[in-house]
Amino acid sequence: MSVPAAALSRLAGIPNLSIRRNVSLAEYTRFGLGGPADALVDAQDSAAFHSALQLTRGFDLPMVVIGGGTNLIVSDGGFPGIVLRFTGSLIERDGNCLGIESGAVLQDVVDFSINHGLAGLQTMTGIPGWVGGAVYGNAGAYGHSIQEVVERVRATNGEQVVEFSTAECEFTYRESMFKRRKEWVILSTHLRLHRADASELRRTAEGIRSIRDEKYPPSMRCAGSIFKNLLFAKLPASVQSEVPPNLVREGKVPSAWFLERIGAKGMRVGDIQVATYHANLLYNDGAGTSADLITVITELKQRVRERFGFELEEEVQYVI
Ligand SMILES: Cc1cc2nc3c(=O)[nH]c(=O)nc-3n(C[C@H](O)[C@H](O)[C@H](O)COP(=O)(O)OP(=O)(O)OC[C@H]3O[C@@H](n4cnc5c(N)ncnc54)[C@H](O)[C@@H]3O)c2cc1C
Repeated sequence: MSVPAAALSRLAGIPNLSIRRNVSLAEYTRFGLGGPADALVDAQDSAAFHSALQLTRGFDLPMVVIGGGTNLIVSDGGFPGIVLRFTGSLIERDGNCLGIESGAVLQDVVDFSINHGLAGLQTMTGIPGWVGGAVYGNAGAYGHSIQEVVERVRATNGEQVVEFSTAECEFTYRESMFKRRKEWVILSTHLRLHRADASELRRTAEGIRSIRDEKYPPSMRCAGSIFKNLLFAKLPASVQSEVPPNLVREGKVPSAWFLERIGAKGMRVGDIQVATYHANLLYNDGAGTSADLITVITELKQRVRERFGFELEEEVQYVI
């Protein structure tokens, strides 16, 4: 379905909104994959975003919200509707708390917090993407995730704007209520941090950054880990007994361990490559396509299912 002219002209009447037609989504995803969207709509403030959401829902248009596009697989056929982004990126400090609009780049928030001597985000150094996407997927690394510092989240469903408490966000490992209830779109997040020595925080962040840059070179077209790690307690008993105990960290087993055992490392379909040094890292090594990427993912899931008897779950999100 293409977006009706009446809807586009109503959207064009919303202040602080930009509309681009027939935009290649490959340019808006870190994988560099994906066909065109009928319209890419950027709202610069929350009022514009709320109105755009209300309008697309009123017209019953196909619509998807994206952020920095660092955790997305977009179909080669693109998206036949509206791709909506909230680009508001204000970061405001109030004592030990930060109020952040969803379009803020997560790394900018991490840097801001470190420069202000506020601890709680330093281990998120190097996670690409925007704050809305990070809250949606409860992003994290090095044993910490954003849920630990989220105090409340402001979201809209196009009808009302509601503030959700941390408990109402229902965070678990790489999950939140927002993944299950996609009618709610995150506008801003309130974080509670605590004071610490800025140079100590910077040292921690720089150490993490250099490890991450080696694993994920900044030019690599990928989505980080494709699959979620596995909760040890939920694995079949026969699989639990195979897993070396020293591999279990915070109750989780890296999915890379299982992927290595089914021969994932170095696998290639077209220009989609599984890293030779990391079985849970797939990247676009040239002129890759989403179809090839999905072929590799399907094959890996099938091999794990056949060998271990459980289903791997994608961390990456689809726009198809
Ligand atoms: C090199 C590399 C390394 C990575 N390392 C990590 C890591 O260590 N830990 C980790 O957790 N992740 C990691 N990721 C994945 C990714 O960076 C995170 O998931 C990030 O938080 C996604 O943010 P984004 O803005 O790019 O979201 P997008 O990719 O644009 O979107 C992801 C999902 O979030 C939803 N979404 C986006 N914005 C909103 C909003 N405002 N309201 C509601 N839903 C929204 C979208 O609908 C989509 O389903 C890595 C990715 C890359 C490329």
